[in-house]
Amino acid sequence: MALALVLGLFACGEPPSEADEPLNLLLVTLDTTRADQLGLYGWIAPTSPNLDALGAGGVVFERAYAPMGQTFPTHSTILSGLGPREHGVLENHSLLGERVATIAQTLRAKGWDTAGCIGAKVLSERTGIARGFDHWDERMPEREEGRATAERPAEQVADALIAWWDARAESASGSKPWFAWAHFFDAHQPFVAPEAFLDALDARAIAQQIAADPERWLGQSDLPPTEVVLAIAERWREYGAEIRYVDAQLGRLLAELEARGERERTVIVVVGDHGEGLTTHGEFGHGVNLYDELMHVPLVIAAPGGVDAGAGAGTRLAEPFGLVELRPLAEGLLLDGGERGGWNTLVRTGRLPSEPVFLERPHFSEQALIKRSGKRLDPYEFGSMLAVVHQGWKLLRQPSGVEVLFDLRNDPGEVHDRSQQEPELHARLAALLDEWLERHPVSDSGPVELSEERLRELEELGYLK
Ligand SMILES: [Zn+2]
Repeated sequence: MALALVLGLFACGEPPSEADEPLNLLLVTLDTTRADQLGLYGWIAPTSPNLDALGAGGVVFERAYAPMGQTFPTHSTILSGLGPREHGVLENHSLLGERVATIAQTLRAKGWDTAGCIGAKVLSERTGIARGFDHWDERMPEREEGRATAERPAEQVADALIAWWDARAESASGSKPWFAWAHFFDAHQPFVAPEAFLDALDARAIAQQIAADPERWLGQSDLPPTEVVLAIAERWREYGAEIRYVDAQLGRLLAELEARGERERTVIVVVGDHGEGLTTHGEFGHGVNLYDELMHVPLVIAAPGGVDAGAGAGTRLAEPFGLVELRPLAEGLLLDGGERGGWNTLVRTGRLPSEPVFLERPHFSEQALIKRSGKRLDPYEFGSMLAVVHQGWKLLRQPSGVEVLFDLRNDPGEVHDRSQQEPELHARLAALLDEWLERHPVSDSGPVELSEERLRELEELGYLK
């Protein structure tokens, strides 16, 4: 009788129960955030209390990799679910072509309200990445002479998103599901966090950590003189303070969701776009090589209980995960209860499929590479650099074709080339890379014409000379 009643109700087109209400999606991208500098990835300094807490109640991807070490290519991958060779954004000065559809376009077409609030003009509307967002906010602070700067602090990005939530709550669309993206740029150089965030971190403790294992933290076997280690630790403290500042703004957004009663209806995705060298392997910035300090990024997904997902709380996934897989995962959670993108399987098993993950540093001109690296071409060479991460190993192929093999589990600092000791493994990974290259020719979208405004934005951020 009860069953008949239930079936009857469904047959009459009864609205879906509360559990079937469409979920919101909050995407927070953390620019220039190196995974190993965060508490939930084992760092000793308290840089990320809010993200740590989110991870404890959600799913932590322990080995998420950016496809490239640059902002616009990786963000294009996060939003499109395509690798750089497919979406065609191989550099910050590229454009995302009309042929590429993003998650914002898909969700908007299916009834979600969409908003994007960015922290730097490297992702400006002119790039094409704003397609699919009903509301777009890239208002940068005014300079005295009245020209917009190219970046703004995370607090202003969070303000913009909260203002959008406020406006929605008062409008007729308040009952629709939403997708909101906040991009926090602060961990990018220069490191200028407010004093209070610096005070929370101790350079001496960081120096001790570095000195205890220079292979792990600096990517070199020799320990530099004490004053050098202290100077490096001071920069790490400044960088960590920026992360902590950003983390505080993440905490603000999460508290807002809670206060609005939306937390339990929202899938939260927090992800880095690439890391930062911070002198490891002799590099300070990003974009120039494919070591883990530049490519291994934080990724946490917290889904509400109710979908098959609540059970995932506290899950830590050890397998490598390429950000190209993020869109199907998030979209599947919203559109079909977590089946299509594989979310339900990973929550049920506590594992990801063991798939190889491919990384690339694109072909830079000699001049661009010298500018990025700040030094002569050695040891990078210009031309395309490639890597594959699989089952705890990373094979790195230099533009010259020279290959090195690292055991990431036992040599996380990527110091010892194991290709001589592991010839079969080396050959297997090299074959995977060759097959991938075969399947992914670089898309030829022709030369890109940049507007004067776009050139100025990139120049202000230091991307052009
Ligand atoms: Zn970036």
